[in-house]
Amino acid sequence: MTNETIEHFDVLIVGAGISGIGGAYHLLQECPDKSFVILETMDSFGGTWKTHTYPGIRSDSDLYTFGYGFKPWTGPPIATAQEILDYMGEVIEENDISTHIRYGHTIETAQWSSSEKRWTLSVKNLEEGRQVEFTCGFLWMCQGYYRHTDPYTPEWEGMEQFQGTIVHPQTWPDDLDYTNKKVVVIGSGATAATLIPAMADKTEHVTMLQRSPTFFVARPNNNELADTLRQLDIPDEWTHEIVRKKILFDQEQIVQMSFQYPDLVREELYKGIREILGEDYDVSEHFEPAYRPWQQRIALIPDGDLFHSIAAGDASVVTDEIATFVENGIETESGQLLEADIIVTATGFDLSILGDISFTIDDEPLDFSKTVGYRGMMFTGLPNLIWVFGYFRASWTLRADLIAGYVCRLLQHMDSKGFQTVIPTLRPEDEDMELLPWVDPENFNPGYLMRSIHLMPKQGTVDPWKHTQDYWRDKDELPVVELDDGALLYK
Ligand SMILES: Cc1cc2nc3c(=O)[nH]c(=O)nc-3n(C[C@H](O)[C@H](O)[C@H](O)COP(=O)(O)OP(=O)(O)OC[C@H]3O[C@@H](n4cnc5c(N)ncnc54)[C@H](O)[C@@H]3O)c2cc1C
Repeated sequence: MTNETIEHFDVLIVGAGISGIGGAYHLLQECPDKSFVILETMDSFGGTWKTHTYPGIRSDSDLYTFGYGFKPWTGPPIATAQEILDYMGEVIEENDISTHIRYGHTIETAQWSSSEKRWTLSVKNLEEGRQVEFTCGFLWMCQGYYRHTDPYTPEWEGMEQFQGTIVHPQTWPDDLDYTNKKVVVIGSGATAATLIPAMADKTEHVTMLQRSPTFFVARPNNNELADTLRQLDIPDEWTHEIVRKKILFDQEQIVQMSFQYPDLVREELYKGIREILGEDYDVSEHFEPAYRPWQQRIALIPDGDLFHSIAAGDASVVTDEIATFVENGIETESGQLLEADIIVTATGFDLSILGDISFTIDDEPLDFSKTVGYRGMMFTGLPNLIWVFGYFRASWTLRADLIAGYVCRLLQHMDSKGFQTVIPTLRPEDEDMELLPWVDPENFNPGYLMRSIHLMPKQGTVDPWKHTQDYWRDKDELPVVELDDGALLYK
């Protein structure tokens, strides 16, 4: 490859999802002199919100906190994928970000050279069907956490016998007609909870088949404080900031209460569900999980729509194990036959480690599982690289925003000191530190993460090697934390 075909940028952002676009905004505002590019496999921006097109697709957390800190959200708290895409589109247009994005570019390999102090990326240009190279000083990984192309579907006995259609929400066929069909949705996460009320009006019946219950909170899809502030003609920027702060304050209380008084929090959550389903409904069998509230983000059910579909008899819940697929549906361990024309496998994701890019450091292949995370966003032995992995409990974008601010501060710091390389490195006092899994399985245990935790970096037991997943701590620490802390080695 000749040098003419290699483009160089100070910063290269992987992915044009909500994290990558947010990163671009921060760079333009805080490091306007840096050249940068966003490389994105798909043919447009949005990431998660472009990939998923199943009926009803919407956020499960509120957009005051899932939206960016810098761009007011003016719609209802829970937003559809299209509303999120429109919001991101405005950020791109208002800040002229599109000139920085290359769509249809899949990064396949990333090689760090210590002598050149730069990354070289081998990239497939999908439109032109050729391999191109990019080099950059700093790599900003905003590739999300799951494989967009391949959903996770477990193998069940008898699947080949089923005569109907099996679909995964991640690859929803545009032409799937479910009018007057019997549908079984396997799973009880936010996706199942979204799909079911969106399909229930048209289907003959839709059944949610779950192995075990999930926490949900049923709430009107409006925010009273936001409505009041708008009535008072308060500027959108202020309303966004105030409502965001209030939601985060309330969430912090609930998270703390979930640790201290889990039973009380449980009861509060069940109360809202019982109000819709009535006293005769077996809430304990279908909606009372064994785990503690907030071990995973609690999906918000706007206007309780899932529960209204159940109350109306259009949808129902079965809590049971799958024994086998049969010709006309699913037989459960307890012997029930759930008839189905369509089976939806809302069974989650396959974790994608670092965007499935194969990394080498000075010609040595990277074993990511051997690295130790620095504040959950940089890694020992990995130079000039940051990874945005959002929060499980709070909105993902809160962390993307905080990390973006940190990257810009780090880049400014390196410029002011004339450094070109930064590598997190265990200090002498850290050498004997116990290493733990990337997340504490007691505390956060979504299936996609537990299936692949052995491939993930480790975390340490002392700062800055802990991965706390604690927004309320990060928000105070990350914007001011010391950059010369002895654990970041600069050259
Ligand atoms: C259905 C669904 C609903 C969700 N709802 C919420 C919610 O309400 N609240 C919340 O906090 N979180 C939610 N999440 C988690 C969600 O994924 C994140 O909140 C957020 O959208 C992730 O944004 P991202 O930009 O970091 O990654 P993604 O949205 O995953 O985008 C990553 C982008 O990187 C691109 N990419 C990856 N690898 C490469 C490569 N090698 N080369 C080039 N491009 C690459 C991908 O094509 C993609 O466009 C939800 C997830 C799903 C699947």
